[in-house]
Amino acid sequence: MNDFLSEIDQQLLAGVRAGNSSDWEELVSQFHGRLLAFARRRLGQNADAEDAVQETFLSLLKSLNSFRGEASLETWLFQLLRRRIADAHRRAGRDLQVPLCLSDSRSATDEKSLSMQPVIAFEQSASWYVRQKEQRTQQQSELLQAVTAATDRLKEEKRFRDLKTFDLLFFAHWKNQAIALELGLEETAVAVLKHRFIQRVSKQLNMSGPSDNLTERSSGLLSDVWRDGRPSCPKRTTLGKYVLGILPEDWDDFVTFHIERLGCEFCAANLEDLNAEINAPSDGSVNLMRGRILESTVGFLNPQIRSDPAG
Ligand SMILES: [Zn+2]
Repeated sequence: MNDFLSEIDQQLLAGVRAGNSSDWEELVSQFHGRLLAFARRRLGQNADAEDAVQETFLSLLKSLNSFRGEASLETWLFQLLRRRIADAHRRAGRDLQVPLCLSDSRSATDEKSLSMQPVIAFEQSASWYVRQKEQRTQQQSELLQAVTAATDRLKEEKRFRDLKTFDLLFFAHWKNQAIALELGLEETAVAVLKHRFIQRVSKQLNMSGPSDNLTERSSGLLSDVWRDGRPSCPKRTTLGKYVLGILPEDWDDFVTFHIERLGCEFCAANLEDLNAEINAPSDGSVNLMRGRILESTVGFLNPQIRSDPAG
C-alpha cells in the first residue's frame, strides 16, 4: 500500500532501501529541520532534542521493511519522533506531556493549574502507534485512508468551516457547545456535521448501517486518526505559500486558524523550519547537525548493497 506516498517519496525510499547513501542524504536534509523544530518545541533547546531526531532517523532505517506507506513519509517520521520524545521524557523521569494541539481542552489553561494538574499522559493514550509495535493494523490504515479521503474532499470544496469543526472536535476535544460559540454555529449544526462526517467515513469503509457505527467509540478513533495521521494539516507547499503571504484568502484563513487558534504543533514546527529556511538558507549550525546525523546513521544502510558515490 502506497496511498500516502508521493512519487518522490517512493523513489527516495526505494533508493534508501537499496542502500544508496545519496538518497539517504537527501531524505535527511529534507526532513531534519522540521523534526528538530518539533523536538525543540517539546524538549527544549538542548542536546535531548538533537538526540531524539538522530534516533528518529535510525528508527526509520530499522523500520524500513515494515513501512508500507500507511502514512506520508513526513507523518511517519513525526510518529517515530514522538515515540523518541516520549522515551526522553520517561528517561528524565517526567510524565507530563505537552499536547500536540495547544487548544486541547484536556490541557491545563495556565501554569498554576498545570503544576497542580495530575499527570496528563497525552502521548500514552489509546493511540495505536504507541503500542510496542511500530506497525498499524490493516483496519487502522483503512480508517486513516477513509478519513483522509473525506478531509481532502472538504479541502477541494473549500468547506473550511467544516474542517475547523472537525479540528476542534477530534484534535482539540472541544464540546459541541464551545465549537458552536467559536464558529458562530447552532449547537445542533455541529452535531449534524459530526454525524454526517462519520457517516461519510463509514460509507467509504463500506460499513453497513452507518448509523450503527455512530457510537462513542467513533470520536475516540477519529481523535487517534487526527493526532497520528494529521488528515486536516495543510501540505508543506501550502505552508510555504502561507509564509510568503500568497495563499487565497479562504485558505489563508484556515491555515491561520489551524496554527494559531488550534495550535497544531506539527504545522507550527513546519512553519518554524520554513521561516528559518527563508531567513537563513545556509545556517552553518544546521549543516553541522545534518552532518552529524549522516555520520551516525549511514553505517546502518544496507551494507551489502550500499552504493559508493565515489566509486
Ligand atoms: Zn497541522
